[in-house]
Amino acid sequence: MSLSHGGRSAFERLRARLDERAYTCEACGFVDDACEWEAATSGATVEYRRECPSCGTEHVRRYRL
Ligand SMILES: [Zn+2]
Repeated sequence: MSLSHGGRSAFERLRARLDERAYTCEACGFVDDACEWEAATSGATVEYRRECPSCGTEHVRRYRL
């Protein structure tokens, strides 16, 4: 990795931030407090995806590194 925000990577910090809170599905209102985001990075951005276990809607969060 070529991230240089001192100590832990920005990647790790974003992930920790997402994992902190329960996730509420915007489509069906299902609250998932054990959410697992799947991370994928492509250079300048990192994308976290998860699928609602209730309705199957895919949610994406995209951040700039
Ligand atoms: Zn849902």
